[in-house]
Order: sequence, then C-alpha cells, then structure tokens
Amino acid sequence: MRDSFKRLEREVVACRLCPRLVAWRESVPGTSAAHRGERYWAKPVPGFGDERAWLLILGLAPGAHGANRTGRPFTGDRSGPFFYRALHAEGFASRPLSVARGDGLQLFGTWITNAVRCAPPANRPLPSELESCHPYLVRELALAREVRVILCLGALAWRSGLRLLRERGAGLPRPLPRFAHGAVLSLDGSPALLASYHPSQQNVSTGKLDQAMLRAVLRRARKIGLRDG
Ligand code: SF4
Repeated sequence: MRDSFKRLEREVVACRLCPRLVAWRESVPGTSAAHRGERYWAKPVPGFGDERAWLLILGLAPGAHGANRTGRPFTGDRSGPFFYRALHAEGFASRPLSVARGDGLQLFGTWITNAVRCAPPANRPLPSELESCHPYLVRELALAREVRVILCLGALAWRSGLRLLRERGAGLPRPLPRFAHGAVLSLDGSPALLASYHPSQQNVSTGKLDQAMLRAVLRRARKIGLRDG
C-alpha cells in the first residue's frame, strides 16, 4: 500500500515500541503544578506542517509538558513562543503562536518533526530509542518529496540528518562535518543540511540562541532553498 502522511501519522500516534518512553510520556501528566488537571496528549507526537514543504525542521524530541501535552512539536512549553515567533516573522507560519493541534495555525513550505517522537526523561533519548524512531523520519522525508533543506536543531538532529543523507546514497565527506550553529552541508542530489542551536529553554534563557540568530538561520534556509529549487 502506498504511504501517505495520514497513514504515517496514524502509525506514529499508535506506536509503543520504546517501553521506557511509553512509560514516561504516560506518567508525566499531573506532575507539573502549572498544568495540573489538564488533559495531556501523552502519545507520540507526529510531524506537522505543509505536506509540500521544501524545508524540513528537525528537532530532538517532544518536551514532557510541551508537545507531550499539546500533541504538536514545539508547542506548549517555553521554547514554543520563541520558535514560532521567528517562523512567523520570516514568513514560515501564519501566526506567531502555536497553541495546540487544531488551532488553525498553518505552516508555509515547512514541515516540523523530531528525531524521536516520544518525550524522553531529561530530554535525553537512548541510542536504541533513536534507532527505533528513525524509520518514521525516513518515511517522512520520502513523503515530503520537495524538501531541499533540512534544518537540524541541535547536535543530535544534525547526526540524524547526516544519517538520512547517507542512507539516501549521498557521499558524505570524511571526517563527518561536526555540528556548529550555522554549519551547512550541501551535496549534489541531496537536501542541504543546515544547523542551528536548539531553541531549548536553556539555550534561549542563556542567550546562546536569540531571535536574531534563529531568524538569520531561517533566512539562510530560504536562500539555500531558493538556490537549489
Ligand atoms: Fe515509537 Fe518513536 Fe515513540 Fe519509540 S520514540 S515509542 S519508536 S514513536
């Protein structure tokens, strides 16, 4: 049967392959005073956005009280307003705020997903969990046929991006390019990889990543996407 975004979403949302993450995502509701009594999504968080995206934004994993609560990547915790504000300012999102699934927010030319689709304890997935979730990312990229740029948020997403390219037959340079904010890897016949610091609460609150830096990375992505389009 032909794959589709809908089919993939159904399978992702029903996935229980990683016992540690299943237990964690289902145990966190009720543990945050700020969200006590709220109904949590508490399932794997599927990708979200424009099915004809040319830009794929790849994060690490849902936040326990953010995306694991709302069901949408980068939504519901402190990284969300920062992240969507930049997307909106650079013309990638219809609004500067993402509230929850079904809020009408639209993305333009952009698909957002994570290397791991369930919230991990301490935001740290195990290598085996990354491994188990990787096939969903492969399918996402295969479905998003127009993707020309993969924006990797953080070192782990960068490694997942390199792996995606290698599996698609790209001849990666040796040694492998290291993660650095603003790093770009452009290879013939593959989507370009672009790296940014992750808009985590820690990176944002310490000023390691600010709006100007994230917006500059998004403008860079557009430039590469236009060049390669
Ligand atoms: Fe399934 Fe991925 Fe969640 Fe593991 S992390 S249970 S593979 S959706």
